[in-house]
Amino acid sequence: MDFDWRPEEAEFRHDLKTFLEAELPEDFDAFSLEPPEQKKFSKAFAAKLAERRWLTPAWPREYGGLEQSAWQQLILSEEMVAHGEPRTAQYMCVNWVGPALILAGTEEQKQYHLQRISRGDVVWCQGFSEPGAGSDLAALRTKATWDGSEYVISGEKIWTSYADTADYCFLLARTDPEASKHNGISIFLVPTDAPGVTISEIPSIFAPGTFNQCVFDDVRAPESWRLGPDSGGWPIIRKLLVNERVGVARFRRASSTLDHVAKAALEAGLLDDPIICEAVAKAQAACDAARVLIYRVVDERAKGQAPDLTAYVYRVATIRAEKAVYEAALQVEGSGGLLKGSYGAAQFGHALASGVATGTLEMQLNLIARDVIGAAPR
Ligand SMILES: Cc1cc2nc3c(=O)[nH]c(=O)nc-3n(C[C@H](O)[C@H](O)[C@H](O)COP(=O)(O)OP(=O)(O)OC[C@H]3O[C@@H](n4cnc5c(N)ncnc54)[C@H](O)[C@@H]3O)c2cc1C
Repeated sequence: MDFDWRPEEAEFRHDLKTFLEAELPEDFDAFSLEPPEQKKFSKAFAAKLAERRWLTPAWPREYGGLEQSAWQQLILSEEMVAHGEPRTAQYMCVNWVGPALILAGTEEQKQYHLQRISRGDVVWCQGFSEPGAGSDLAALRTKATWDGSEYVISGEKIWTSYADTADYCFLLARTDPEASKHNGISIFLVPTDAPGVTISEIPSIFAPGTFNQCVFDDVRAPESWRLGPDSGGWPIIRKLLVNERVGVARFRRASSTLDHVAKAALEAGLLDDPIICEAVAKAQAACDAARVLIYRVVDERAKGQAPDLTAYVYRVATIRAEKAVYEAALQVEGSGGLLKGSYGAAQFGHALASGVATGTLEMQLNLIARDVIGAAPR
């Protein structure tokens, strides 16, 4: 059996790397830029990718793609993450906003939104979490009431990354308060400059603009803003959450950080210390485990199988890899690993975020217990 990349995949990775190395400074990290500068940079960079159709290469050609395979999509994610994710918020568009539109959009919605995304003209944010609806997303209370000609949306979303610079919000709202909680939810594609939308920053330990609160105060939404059936959004949401959880090759960035940490340890003669050596080795094994598991997800996807179950397991493995790299960095850097600018401090942020965003570690473990192992709740 031959486990190597196919020639077209190896060529795509090579071309991407050559392009990224020519375009970006060494050790570039787009997330270290302030939000307005980040948006300006990623828009200009997205335009360069779009010229080559590399922003959305897995999409159908008619919507700006190249119909590349799931494996090439993974290569794109790996290389972007390894080079500081110069697309910033655009990764969401390619990973799950666009696929959700392709899955459930009307032809009019596809024509309007997909072209804009594949040209890199727009930034989207995700209006899911609310106070009281995070892990239990289906408990969301933002409501969209049909008044006979339009929906009227009111409610509050929190932790909305990129909302301060986004053009559209992919918003979940309850359209049928009488239905069971999973059955009354609809999806809306809301321009962030619609009257009644107010966005304000939530300060945090992360970079400025990472979290926002979005208030929807009687926002009038025509029917054409609804994606999918009225009160039938949940099956679409389930599919896009799987795409979101596997969309970012987080293990790739963690393993790059580990390379730097291991080099620093080697140069300082610290690898003779068995505790440090073990921490670095454990982190390497955790990154490799996450990589192998995402390859399994992609293999299933390439074969047209639903990847839900393996995706949960991959997600746990990647969260653990991020944490193991953080622990290795702290062992190597000591108390210096707590200071801004250290590998430890930077990796702390990534490890913390990966264990909460797109569903916490505990919720992924619950899903594995229920759906993979088949454990019944007591
Ligand atoms: C970096 C980052 C970016 C984010 N970006 C966005 C965004 O763009 N858009 C958006 O909508 N949201 C975003 N979020 C929010 C994220 O989706 C939620 O924080 C997450 O779903 C958890 O919800 P919560 O914060 O309400 O915590 P809670 O649901 O209140 O959970 C609190 C704790 O209780 C545990 N817990 C809860 N229920 C169970 C259970 N049944 N079994 C076991 N343990 C349980 C959780 O694991 C957690 O440890 C982001 C979060 C982070 C960290």
